[in-house]
Amino acid sequence: MTFKELNLLPEILKAVEEMGYEKPTPIQERAIPEAMNGRDVLGVAQTGTGKTAAFSIPILQQIHQNQPEKGRKPIRSLILTPTRELAAQIGDNIKAYGKFLPSKYTVIFGGVGQNPQVNRLRAGVDILVATPGRLLDLMNQGHISLKHVEFFVLDEADRMLDMGFIHDIKKILPKLPQTKQTMFFSATMPPAIVTLTKTLLNNPVSVTVDAVSSAATTVKQEAYHVLKPDKKKLLLHLLKNPEIDQALVFSRTKRGADRLSKILAKANITSGAIHGDKAQGQRERALKGFKDGNLRILVATDIAARGIDIDSLSYVINYDIPNEPETYIHRIGRTGRAGAEGTSISFCDIDERPFVKSIEKLTGKKINFIPNHPFEITDAGIKEYKEMQDSFTKQNEIQMQKRREAKKKARESGNTGGARKSGKRRR
Ligand code: AMP
Repeated sequence: MTFKELNLLPEILKAVEEMGYEKPTPIQERAIPEAMNGRDVLGVAQTGTGKTAAFSIPILQQIHQNQPEKGRKPIRSLILTPTRELAAQIGDNIKAYGKFLPSKYTVIFGGVGQNPQVNRLRAGVDILVATPGRLLDLMNQGHISLKHVEFFVLDEADRMLDMGFIHDIKKILPKLPQTKQTMFFSATMPPAIVTLTKTLLNNPVSVTVDAVSSAATTVKQEAYHVLKPDKKKLLLHLLKNPEIDQALVFSRTKRGADRLSKILAKANITSGAIHGDKAQGQRERALKGFKDGNLRILVATDIAARGIDIDSLSYVINYDIPNEPETYIHRIGRTGRAGAEGTSISFCDIDERPFVKSIEKLTGKKINFIPNHPFEITDAGIKEYKEMQDSFTKQNEIQMQKRREAKKKARESGNTGGARKSGKRRR
């Protein structure tokens, strides 16, 4: 099946094409047509299956096709998800799929100031992506009304339960209108979730897709304990092995990705980088070069790597270990596809060890740490690294102190505008 056959609006089709998606994933193929007809959906699926598009696309399409009369926009769709990372990811997806549509969306979550969120809500949004705590908070303060919600998504329901959000959800549900379309997603179906689906869903279409975490059983997972400053040396050392003919290297940040490209170029290793600051053309060229086999390494950030479809990849290297275990599973799921052999190699600094623990907990499988490599963490190395970090922190503190003093001086001489301006330039 193709996206064209899903009868998408041309604006959405164009956006999906821009994302580089070649065909719908199984959950999209099954859920999108039903959801577009207004049917409730029960998706037993995990992050990495393409479930976000499976619910976002029908919402965007239906919102666009049935515009209410002019006036202030009420919230027409609520998407609830347990973590801020997931909320932000869903927001990014809606932004991408709705790129050519006028619909407005916003994302709210706790742990940050509420004012910018409230201001965005005041301006009017069609789609609200929220974590339960902040949503309730803003509802209680009278900033949010759910009276006009037509499309409701409960994402990662089992995780909501694990994280203790079920009470919040029970407070939110009665505030939603009786008549609405509900799409419910959960990776697992424990009894409490089954009960919840019964109260929430009306004759739903059920779609169950393979958990991505199955990647963890097919992919060989290796890791190296290594201090951050030694990671580049370890990478170059590993790439001496001709067996690694091609690898997708993940970097947490855009700057990190650029830095890695430079290091690789210096070592005469062909590479391309894709991340949010690269122009579409640059990304496409890098991807093509990699797919054609002209580039040995593709360095990517998680967001940029979404939607790129590379088959028969044998190696994924996690230069940084993500703090969200799902991201790791998604990364390693890029290799070992369709029964192919795949290896993931992770570089683990001391600070990243807890992330490994949560990955192992989620996958139920131990990651194999390779002993006796040339950049093994030694006690002397740790000491040196800590000293370096301390001196860095001290330098930072001195700089901050200098800034504070400069600002104070400027304030005292009544010259606050200038101080603020120069502060801005520095950032
Ligand atoms: P999700 O399960 O929604 O978190 O999606 C997992 C990843 O798959 C995201 O990075 C999406 O950008 C990507 N994705 C979603 N749909 C497709 C598709 N049809 N083809 C390729 N990648 C996709």
